[in-house]
Amino acid sequence: MADIFDKKPIAAFGEMAETGARPYYRTAAPDAIMAGCNDYLGLATDPRVVEAAAAALARHGTSCSGSRILNGTLPLHEELEAALADFLGCEAALVTTTGFQANLAVGALLGPGDASFSDMANHASLVDGVLLGQGSRHRYRHGDLDHLERLLAAADPDAGKLVITDGLFSMEGDLCPLPGLRELADRYGARLVVDGAHDIGLLGACGRGVAEHFGAMDAVDLFTGTFSKCFGSLGGLLAGPAGIVEYLRYTARPVLFSAAMSPASAAAALASLEIIRTEPARRERVFDHAERLHNGLRALGFSTGPSVTPVVPVHVGHAVPCLRMWQALHDAGVYTNAVVAPAVPRGRALIRVTPQATHTEEQITRILDAFAACGRRLGLVPERAEHDWT
Ligand code: PMP
Repeated sequence: MADIFDKKPIAAFGEMAETGARPYYRTAAPDAIMAGCNDYLGLATDPRVVEAAAAALARHGTSCSGSRILNGTLPLHEELEAALADFLGCEAALVTTTGFQANLAVGALLGPGDASFSDMANHASLVDGVLLGQGSRHRYRHGDLDHLERLLAAADPDAGKLVITDGLFSMEGDLCPLPGLRELADRYGARLVVDGAHDIGLLGACGRGVAEHFGAMDAVDLFTGTFSKCFGSLGGLLAGPAGIVEYLRYTARPVLFSAAMSPASAAAALASLEIIRTEPARRERVFDHAERLHNGLRALGFSTGPSVTPVVPVHVGHAVPCLRMWQALHDAGVYTNAVVAPAVPRGRALIRVTPQATHTEEQITRILDAFAACGRRLGLVPERAEHDWT
């Protein structure tokens, strides 16, 4: 009889053993430059955010000890929801314990006769959200509007339709083609969900995300998002028409049956939202850093893909050189992310670099110096004369 605990080794383990690299579940050395975290605006350590969290902790304790629907709703959650709805120009918002849960909640919209259309590069939490829902499931090639249109045209015209996409894709750093998605959604009577996990707070003049970037706040029917990136906290959000947000409050099982976002997390998110609204210079700074990184890496001979956003993908291709590069950078004091299958398709392994508004110019220079030295040593880029990064 098979033992359910008898599992094949994880694919990446072989490659890790071959290279000696250990990129996962690693703490960063205290003196390393952290270039692999999603605190883009540097708010997780901002004294105002820390102070707000500490005050909520002192006032409400460590936990809500229950779900939002029962005892777990604090005025802080309600205040945060009202502020988010206002910020995103939506009728209502619902905050959840993680962004992953907010995306799982999307599944509650999909009934037996419905049809979902997901970008193939969507985040795992959106993939799982769709799996929690019902109806027919379709996936269109990454960013490919023609493919999406063919799928929409072939679907039952009477089915309720939901198009689902990341706003800023988390691994390759590119944006969804929002205007085209809206046009197709209108033509085929579909609704559009956009996960703003990486872009709310970061993109657009006021930080309202990919929709503001495209000058089309009304293009999105339902936003999802997270507080674990630009907001320097922990938690998730759903924002859209009041009726559908209310529906999700009572039907989305990942929300109903899980304890509420902690008081400290809610207070931190609220404090960060105020900073996001009032300090656009943070966004400008992180984009300046991103541009320097893209330009510097390209000058060295690395490929960083077509987009220039603060999710900087350094394409390596195969997992083995990617893991070797990660380890070399780590040993040089630069903490990045090694992204291999299944997070990206096989053969598309990359090192993800994410600058923060709180990085100094000198730290960005040191990141580029480390890429130059490690990339040349490992033969990933040609040997050349020294570059001037400044
Ligand atoms: N969506 C995207 C695109 C993400 O990158 C992430 C976080 N990795 C999530 C959702 C989940 O957010 P959280 O960390 O709040 O669970």
